[in-house]
Amino acid sequence: MSLVVYNTMSRHKEEFRPREEGKVFMYVCGPTVYNYIHVGNGRAYLVFDVIRRYLSYKGYEVFYVQNFTDVDDKIINRANEEGKAPEEIARHYEAAFLEDMRGLNILPPDIAPRATETIPRMIEMIRGLVDKGYAYAVDGDVFFRVESFAGYGKLSGRSLDEMRAGERVEVDERKANPMDFALWKASKPGEPAWESPWGKGRPGWHIECSAMSLHYLGMGFDIHGGGQDLVFPHHENEIAQSEAFAGSEPFVRYWLHNGFVNIQEEKMSKSLGNIILVREILKRYPADAVRLLALQTHYRNPIDFGPEALDEARRAYERLENCLFALDAFLAKPPDMTAPQRTQREVELSDSCFDFERRFEEAMDDDFNTARAIGVIFELVKELNTYLDEQELYQTPAAPMVASHGRDVLLKLCNILGLFSPAQRERESREAVVREETGPSAESLIELLLEVRAVAREGKQFATADLIRTRLRELGIRVDDLREGQRWKYVGPPA
Ligand SMILES: [Zn+2]
Repeated sequence: MSLVVYNTMSRHKEEFRPREEGKVFMYVCGPTVYNYIHVGNGRAYLVFDVIRRYLSYKGYEVFYVQNFTDVDDKIINRANEEGKAPEEIARHYEAAFLEDMRGLNILPPDIAPRATETIPRMIEMIRGLVDKGYAYAVDGDVFFRVESFAGYGKLSGRSLDEMRAGERVEVDERKANPMDFALWKASKPGEPAWESPWGKGRPGWHIECSAMSLHYLGMGFDIHGGGQDLVFPHHENEIAQSEAFAGSEPFVRYWLHNGFVNIQEEKMSKSLGNIILVREILKRYPADAVRLLALQTHYRNPIDFGPEALDEARRAYERLENCLFALDAFLAKPPDMTAPQRTQREVELSDSCFDFERRFEEAMDDDFNTARAIGVIFELVKELNTYLDEQELYQTPAAPMVASHGRDVLLKLCNILGLFSPAQRERESREAVVREETGPSAESLIELLLEVRAVAREGKQFATADLIRTRLRELGIRVDDLREGQRWKYVGPPA
């Protein structure tokens, strides 16, 4: 089965054929580090994290570059507002971004270049564009001449006239065409500045990504990703600069764009005041629930990140977790050697596990259809739960093998999507150890309370048992009464 991906350039699904066999070179536009990222930004990094993980799973050697835009008007404005140096702002939000990415269990890129560390490459590109007549300098600024590049508009599918009608372009008498965009900007006093053939200044945003991606990945690399809002003008401009500079095409083989994030059916935006930060969500929801929510919708479709959707995703995540928990508990019990060797359902379940894997891959091979892939995972969960219910009376001698096979497949499929990842588990348990070393842990006190609660229940003191459960819930700890006993989990304070 071969992988097909939807290419924004052709507006079709195409068979994925990388530049070099067995290797994928990909670039995703990184953050402009001037504030904390919201879930709209977070979705893009999550989507491309899963795409990258799946490509690795398919056997590709993936080389992933994601930049930091650490010089920009937004950073300079923020620095002026706070009376800080632009560099201080950039480093602070860069660190915060990395923390949010770890929080979401997103794998780090192979290379994460900062724009400010790639300036000579940008100057070299701009100089080349000026020399070839694609760009012109006016008063220390350099503009790209959109009319000089015949393919301008091919990604967004818009003509220059349509663009002009659709965009509010500031009138700048110095531009040959209002759509011409800045490659280099002369600096005002006190702003970050680098020496250039056109005087002191700094690069425009679009040239940063062209220079960094070409430097690390070369012309014709495989995947360029980002949110749909970047198609125009950012990616359109990246193509114009890169192909004009190289004198060849394509700059990128496959353009992949993820859809928008809404909050309760409204577009998330500053003006509506409904921006939700990744770090706020991670205080209240487990990372895997957030990942599940993001992946339950196909990456090109819009997605709702409102509280109901998040709560729903948390319940879905708990269904998955409960199934794994029940499988573990089941596997801890010894089989009944006097029972029949194996049941008909066990034979069917073992066979169907391979089928689940195949259908999962088919879904992912179809333009990374995580929504369908997750549907397959939950079908498997349902099968396994039914099986466990049937095993209530006894375990056949074959049961451990059947249950552990089911568990392996379930975990494998989850891991491909970055759910229940061993690295994440390890990090969480490391954090628990750190807490342990600073005195009696919260965990040990909760266990103690649950022990008391179990005694109360045995003595039919249900009011006491319920009180303990309610008070723990108020502290953000949920207690479930399962067949195997009580289980607790930190889920955050109730809404
Ligand atoms: Zn970019």
